[in-house]
Amino acid sequence: MPGSVLVVGCGVFGLATSRSLAEKGYSVTAIDAYEPPSPWSAANDYNKIIRGEYTDMIYSKMSVEAIDLWRNDPVFKGLYNECGRLMITPAHHVGRKEFERKGIENLNKLGEGFRMEYFQGGNEVSERFDFFKYNLMANEEESKFNPDSGLAHAGNSLRAVYRKCKQLGVKFLFGKKGEFVSVEKKKGIAYIKTADGSLHTSEQIVVCCGAATGKMLDLQEQQGATGLFVTHIKLTPSEYETYKNMPVLFDAEMGYFFPPDPETRILKIAQPGAGASHFVKNPHNSGKKISLPRYHNLHPTDTMPKHCIKQTKQILAKYIPELAYHELFDSKVCWVADTADSHFIVDGVPGYSNLYVATGDSGHGFKFLPNIGKYIVGMLEGNLDEEYGSQWKWKTSAKGFDPVSMDWRVASEFPDLKNVDWVQEQPKAKL
Ligand SMILES: Cc1cc2nc3c(=O)[nH]c(=O)nc-3n(C[C@H](O)[C@H](O)[C@H](O)COP(=O)(O)OP(=O)(O)OC[C@H]3O[C@@H](n4cnc5c(N)ncnc54)[C@H](O)[C@@H]3O)c2cc1C
Repeated sequence: MPGSVLVVGCGVFGLATSRSLAEKGYSVTAIDAYEPPSPWSAANDYNKIIRGEYTDMIYSKMSVEAIDLWRNDPVFKGLYNECGRLMITPAHHVGRKEFERKGIENLNKLGEGFRMEYFQGGNEVSERFDFFKYNLMANEEESKFNPDSGLAHAGNSLRAVYRKCKQLGVKFLFGKKGEFVSVEKKKGIAYIKTADGSLHTSEQIVVCCGAATGKMLDLQEQQGATGLFVTHIKLTPSEYETYKNMPVLFDAEMGYFFPPDPETRILKIAQPGAGASHFVKNPHNSGKKISLPRYHNLHPTDTMPKHCIKQTKQILAKYIPELAYHELFDSKVCWVADTADSHFIVDGVPGYSNLYVATGDSGHGFKFLPNIGKYIVGMLEGNLDEEYGSQWKWKTSAKGFDPVSMDWRVASEFPDLKNVDWVQEQPKAKL
């Protein structure tokens, strides 16, 4: 007989878990500092990439399963745009090239990824895609296009799962009543203390607070918060008509951008390799430091470093030079939970009989909104497959996170926020 579960944090992992639990008949209460989509969620955004390429078979399988659900689950109707993804990989970056080769090999083993198209130099790209006809790619640059991928409307997808959870009877608490401040332990049982001073417990509690999790819960050295930079331009109506059907363009070194958002004509540009940390004293171990989020809604002057603005203009100038005149706006830093091995952490918390954690998204968790809940519930029920459980287990020996050593995210520098020279923006100047 399914029991009661308290889900703490209603981003991707928390909402997906609440939905899966409620569908199985559990009594679910879910809490968050904000109603979804929370301004603290890494997924509160116009769009995110949905792709299948992974070097690790567990994520290859999960992403193939997720893409099927993005296409067919009625909850996500109208939210997935299979526009494809054009990938450009710097020839000198052996690690990223290997990531992509292995990613396609894994897809092929699963009977997927056979529609990939390969291009040599800028002319072949401009012949295939009118959108990029003025691109400045060099002749030696290689690229590939996977039509079996695309984007999902991220904030709206969170709203859709939130609506589904409410239909299924999940109870929600937000604001001070939902803001998790600390864990208290009585006879081995965990109680979640919220900002209004209340204590909450349940047969099982699963903490899904993303990059902030290590603030309230001692995760030891397992995860650190990484800030990633995002900015936007707004297209004119005629530019929107020209570019609305373009694929996602992903240059592993320079950054990536999406087709314009259909509701707002806003085109989002992100820089995967230029992130930041925010080191503070570890609340659970005063001798150590930990990187924790500093959220944009509470610190609106955390926009984008000045040098990233230049790089962002260069991405547009290289691939769609006719859009590079636009002013960038709504630049911000958004926080992901990075682990040393880029694996999620989905396990029980040592020392408690009823406390679990699902975090460590490592910047690639959004695409699993349709199916991650099933795996987290599997962990709670004690029947998660060993191939997932062995990778997602609580790792007492984890030794922190080094962004520059990661091959799949081409990272060159990760300054601390205190050393960032921020661009000053007129708030929402171009909206
Ligand atoms: C710039 C950027 C680009 C990305 N691009 C992609 C992509 O293209 N494809 C992809 O698959 N993934 C992408 N991601 C990653 C994806 O967004 C994350 O993996 C995903 O959001 C993680 O889900 P989560 O539930 O662990 O955390 P989140 O979605 O961040 O949710 C955490 C939740 O916890 C809540 N919370 C935090 N603190 C508290 C507290 N004290 N009390 C109560 N609630 C709290 C927050 O309000 C939030 O709702 C990207 C992330 C970023 C930042």
